[in-house]
Amino acid sequence: MVDFREAGEPVDETELAIEGALRPTSLAEFVGQQKVRGQMQLLLDAARIQQRPADHILLSGPPGLGKTTLAMIVAHESGRPLRLSSGPAIQHAGDLAALLSSLTPGEVLFIDEVHRMARSAEEMLYLAMEDFRIDIMVGKGAGATSIPLDLAPFTLVGATTRSGLLPNPLRDRFGFTAHLEFYEPEELERVIERSAVMLGVSLPPAARAEIARRSRGTPRIANRLLRRVRDYLVVHGRTGADIEAVDAALDLYDVDAIGLDRLDRAVLDALVRRFRGGPVGLGTLAVAVGEEADTIESVVEPYLVRIGFMGRTPRGRIAMPEAYAHLGVPSVDSVLGFDDL
Ligand code: ADP
Repeated sequence: MVDFREAGEPVDETELAIEGALRPTSLAEFVGQQKVRGQMQLLLDAARIQQRPADHILLSGPPGLGKTTLAMIVAHESGRPLRLSSGPAIQHAGDLAALLSSLTPGEVLFIDEVHRMARSAEEMLYLAMEDFRIDIMVGKGAGATSIPLDLAPFTLVGATTRSGLLPNPLRDRFGFTAHLEFYEPEELERVIERSAVMLGVSLPPAARAEIARRSRGTPRIANRLLRRVRDYLVVHGRTGADIEAVDAALDLYDVDAIGLDRLDRAVLDALVRRFRGGPVGLGTLAVAVGEEADTIESVVEPYLVRIGFMGRTPRGRIAMPEAYAHLGVPSVDSVLGFDDL
């Protein structure tokens, strides 16, 4: 089962159901990522004309940017069924063999976090992607034999937050790869406008723009903040949101004026104050904020780098001048460093 959570966040079934309901079902409804959309449209059109399953697709990028949604759109637009799985659920080659051998012709298989699959399964997937065939090992030791098994042709859509961790032989077997970028505020406004209609929330343009500005370039966060604003309106017996209502709701959830959350700020704070702006290694930084290095690298860091608050150097992570300004710290020299403690 695909895990739609942000890192460290508790699962809420109702929230997941709402998230599902807000997903666009066609490329035309999918906001932004114009280049990727154009390329995927071509891929799907060609497959439809030739009446074959579309090429395998690899989508990379931070969580919440639309990878799962695009996989669902691929299935929907090509009129094929969709099977959902994830790397951590495939811990043995046998798990993958069972999954692949049960696919129906043309089915779209979505594997989230494809970089976290077991190595033995990964090797089985190479052959499956290329020849729609797998070899099943029967027996052990000297008496072991492999039995070839033909598969129904399928389209694999792999998603990863860490494309660098994907072995080249696997990456090379995807006919189309795309990296999803953070969204511009105007694009997020369009996501929010659409979701607000679906949730029955009335939002003037200024309130919409404020939510977009605080959504960390991420549609999932935009939708989630919109739901918190809706909760605020419900509790206060109001039907429409103004900018004060948006501010009041989002302040309650620790989202700051530019959309950074508690973990973003903890990382910046550690970088600037404890490590005097760096450079500091990822592992050390992760320990300092009590979080997994993988979460820092795939969730926190991409956005802080994108907005110019953090830099990556061969010697480690560094804080950029904008980070000092945001934290209200005047300069590097004014900070008591880790070594001084
Ligand atoms: P990922 O798989 O990359 O973590 P998802 O596809 O689950 O992200 O997207 C999270 C939520 O954001 C979905 O509920 C979807 O409604 C919304 N969303 C993502 N991308 C877009 C988009 N381009 N246009 C509209 N909504 C989007």
